[in-house]
Order: sequence, then structure tokens, then C-alpha cells
Amino acid sequence: AAGHVVVVGGGYGGATVAKYLRKWSEGGVRVTLVERNPTFISCPISNLILSGDKTLDDITVSYDGLKNRWGVKVIQDEAVAVDPVKRTLRLAQGGSLSYDRLVLSPGVDFLWSLVPALDAKESQEKILHAWKAGPQTVALRKQLESMKDGGVFAITIPKAPYRCPPGPYERASVVASYFKAHKPKSKVLILDANEDVISKKGLFTKAWSELYPNIVEYRPNHELIDVDVTNTTALFEFDKVRADVLNVVPPQRAGAIASAAGLKLVNNRWVDVDWLSLESTNTPGIHVLGDAIFPAPTMPKSGHMANQHAKLAAAAILNLLAGEAPNPNPVVMNTCYSFLSSTEACHVASIHQYDAEKKTVLPVPGSGGVSAVRSVAEAQFALGWAKNIWADALA
Ligand code: FAD
Repeated sequence: AAGHVVVVGGGYGGATVAKYLRKWSEGGVRVTLVERNPTFISCPISNLILSGDKTLDDITVSYDGLKNRWGVKVIQDEAVAVDPVKRTLRLAQGGSLSYDRLVLSPGVDFLWSLVPALDAKESQEKILHAWKAGPQTVALRKQLESMKDGGVFAITIPKAPYRCPPGPYERASVVASYFKAHKPKSKVLILDANEDVISKKGLFTKAWSELYPNIVEYRPNHELIDVDVTNTTALFEFDKVRADVLNVVPPQRAGAIASAAGLKLVNNRWVDVDWLSLESTNTPGIHVLGDAIFPAPTMPKSGHMANQHAKLAAAAILNLLAGEAPNPNPVVMNTCYSFLSSTEACHVASIHQYDAEKKTVLPVPGSGGVSAVRSVAEAQFALGWAKNIWADALA
């Protein structure tokens, strides 16, 4: 295959697709990656910064491997508009790129209109999300360190689907682990818009009652309607909760460039794709990966899944560039580890296969599962998983 593929977003999906397009075409396909940030910073493992177990450096990887080993051209810029007819992508700092195929893996953007008080930069600096790893993660750690013993950390969770289904519960667990060791009179309140959709529920609730009986409290059916920023108070229809540190995981949608490209969205939030190629269902030539897509049934928005989407899309794009049809029977898999304390973790795994009749990917009956118990060994596997997937995407 030959041609020019432009990729927007150098996160879990975008970095992986850029590398595999170069690797599998043996350098035949030119790849340009447009990413606004200078380095890759991983959301997986970022909760361990909040507990004081890791630093931002530990979860940062450079784009040198993609540039020097794989010959990907990396441009640090913001992609702002797409012309799907002329097949060009416009960049914020001027200039545009022509493509044969465009891949968008922009992750999520936040729906601040659903939390109006946070639709201002100053408010967002006080009430943090830390749902894109980076400066916000470090700032949230500082808020936790400055909090008095006996204080309350509250985390609000939006209605599913959102990035990383077990992520908020992992965050609550490792913050509780930090409090248990350093501020034992403090509380962790989990204010969840959902009810009974907790990923790995048994393992989380067991950890909370066994490890943090006086620290963690879980409240379902708490859908945030706004925030009183001055009083660090989360507002719900029938309740309001004041916290010393309030962490809002905002409602989410596909990254803005997906809407700018005019792609068909489901629920006005997520891009609708053809599961054989991850090509948009209404805009030929544009493939979308990772958190930005409308997920197949039971498919989580995870880094591991974005990595799998990337490989499915890379193979399909190389076939399409060579004038061939994509593989008719793709399979993808996922494993999400969650830390329950600084030293123990658990996992959930699943395998999803294309169903030609339903035109989507479905969980393979009898495959996957969850850990029987949390363990120290799984915490080591979790760190190994992260190192391996960073190398797979970026080295
Ligand atoms: P991202 O990885 O977010 O990449 C998107 C990239 O696009 C970003 O680098 C962004 O800067 C760039 N970008 C966006 N728009 C533009 C533009 N217009 N121009 C230029 N650049 C742009 N997943 C797991 O598998 N395992 C875990 O243990 C796990 N833990 C998590 C813990 C937390 C706290 C969080 C928040 C998430 C976790 N996840 C985990 C989920 C995982 O981070 C996401 O599912 C994954 O990052 C999705 O990959 P992506 O490529 O869709 O988006």
C-alpha cells in the first residue's frame, strides 16, 4: 500500500495507529500525526499520582520513538477543521495537510453546558476534573495534600457512557488509601449519577468495606446539575454536598474535531462508525478511534480498547489503500486493571467479535471475566500492562 494518512491525536488510539500504519506497510505509507501536546501523558496509572505513589514523569512518554524509529512525521498543533471533499485538514497555526485517509482519535471533550458554573476558566481551575492526565492531575494531588485531616473529598460521576468505566471508583479507592495512611479522619464520598452499573462492583464494594469502612461512602442516583464554586458544593436535584476537595468528572462527548468534520454522531455525542474499518458511516475517508466513537454493546471507553481499534483501523486502511476489502471478521479485546490501594489491584477482561448480521462487534460468549480477588500480583501486572502498552503504541 502507498499514500498519505493523517492522524489527529497522539493518545492511545492515534499513536498506535500511526506506528502500525508505518510498521505494517514497511514504510510504504506516509503518516503525519497532529497532536496539540508536546508529549504523551497516560490517563491509566494517573490515579496513582493522587495517592502519591507515582509522578507525572512516570506516566509521560516522548514521541521520539514514533519519529525516529517509525518515521512518523509529528506536528505539534491543533487540528481545527476538515474538508472531507477536498480531503484536507486545517491546522490552527496556519497551513493545511492533504490526506488520502484521515484518522481522528481526539478522545473526549467535556460538556460544560451540563455543569454551567464550570463553563468558566477560573472555576475550572478551582474545581478540577483531572480526567485528562497532566497539570490537572498534579493540581488535584496538591489539593488533597493541603486538605486537613477530617476533610471530605467528593467525586461526582456522570451518566455512562464516559471515559474509563472503572476509573472513578479506582480514584476513590486510591484516595481512600492515601487518607487511611496520612489523614485517617477524612472521608471519600462517591456521588454517582448511575445506579448499579459499577464496573467490577463486587471487588470495589468489598475493598471499600474491608479496607476503608469509615472512609468511603457510596451514593448512587446523584446526577450533578451544577456546582456552587465559592462554597465547593456539588448541587443535585434533591441534595447538595459540600466538600473540602470537589472533583467533578464532567459529562463527555467526542473531541470537538469530530463535530467540526461533520461526522454522523449518535445522541449528538459519539461518532457512528462502520465496525469493519472504523470509517465514519456518513463521511468516506475519515476513520475514528477510541473514546470518540459510539461504543459497541458492553465495549468500554478504555486505552486498551483504543489500542485495539487502532490496529483494526490500520489493517483496514492498508487494505483500502491497496484497493482491497477490510478483514470481514475482526476481533478486539480489552483488559482494564484498577488499583484498590497502593499495593493491590484487580482486572476485568473481555473479547468482542464482529457479527456480520448485526454489523457490530459483540462480546464472545464465555470469554473474559473479572478477578476472583484483589491481589498484590495484579498490581504488578497492572504496572506491566501500562509499560507494555506504552511501548506498543510509542516505542
Ligand atoms: P486520548 O488518549 O485522550 O488521546 C487523544 C489525543 O488527541 C490527546 O493527546 C489530545 O491532546 C489530542 N487531541 C484532541 N483533539 C485534538 C486536536 N483537535 N488537535 C490536536 N490534538 C488533539 N484505560 C485503560 O485501558 N486502562 C486503564 O487503567 C485506564 N485508566 C484510566 C484512568 C483515568 C483516571 C482516566 C481518566 C482514564 C483511564 N483509562 C484507562 C481510559 C483511557 O485513558 C482512554 O480510554 C484513552 O486515553 C482513549 O484513547 P483515545 O486515543 O481515544 O484518546
